[in-house]
Amino acid sequence: DAEITQGGLRLQHLSFGYDAAQPVLHDINLEIPAGSFYGIVGHTGSGKSTLLSLLLRFYTAQAGRIDVDGVPLASYSDEHFRASVGLVPQEPFLLAANARENIAMGRPISEADIIAAAKAARVHEFILQLEHGYDTPLGEGGARLSTGQKQLIAIARALAGKPRILFLDEATSHIDSETEQIVQMALTDLRGKVTIVAIAHRLSTIRDADSIIVLNHGKLSEQGSHAEL
Ligand code: ATP
Ligand code: MG
Repeated sequence: DAEITQGGLRLQHLSFGYDAAQPVLHDINLEIPAGSFYGIVGHTGSGKSTLLSLLLRFYTAQAGRIDVDGVPLASYSDEHFRASVGLVPQEPFLLAANARENIAMGRPISEADIIAAAKAARVHEFILQLEHGYDTPLGEGGARLSTGQKQLIAIARALAGKPRILFLDEATSHIDSETEQIVQMALTDLRGKVTIVAIAHRLSTIRDADSIIVLNHGKLSEQGSHAEL
């Protein structure tokens, strides 16, 4: 069976619409080397989350192809794919459970790995400040956390699975600049350890990215470093 060992991505002539009559992505060509950090920016509705949905196999493109480590995306078993790819969604969902359970998500992950993931997501100190630390209930849907804090927990959750590829869809709203800076630092620390594809609403979040791509009405319109764009 195919295995994702490096986490390199290649998109060729990728086109997609939820409804075939209304294309959302047009002829996307993109190479994301294993271990690199790529940022995606673009106006609301430009197709950023849709692109992630295709990379995550939630939908299948009508045209073109996606290869991971040189093999078509569909070659991987669901079990292997889920274990190799981490997603931090735009609207993270938290369980009515404690911090530890929200990071482990039912997977057999050791306490040491949970803490390492929380540290990498820079949310460990925050958790320790809660009244019962990792045993503190986070409330229904994470009611007691801000959206930014939920994203940090979601980053820890994704990292706890030790993915080869990390997809992050930055929350659109209510991210205070302090949390945004923590996300930016966490991503920078992960550089080179895992392939990162991060959608950002603020260019500062991905200022350390190796490359930033700009989506405009479903087309890849520009690509370059933070300094170049
Ligand atoms: P934002 O910055 O607001 O998150 P985005 O760049 O992530 O925007 P997408 O969510 O990918 O944009 O949406 C691209 C287009 O596809 C929009 O026109 C949107 O209305 C449409 N769309 C998104 N999700 C669906 C869906 N599940 N079914 C049908 N159309 C969808
Ligand atoms: Mg989106």
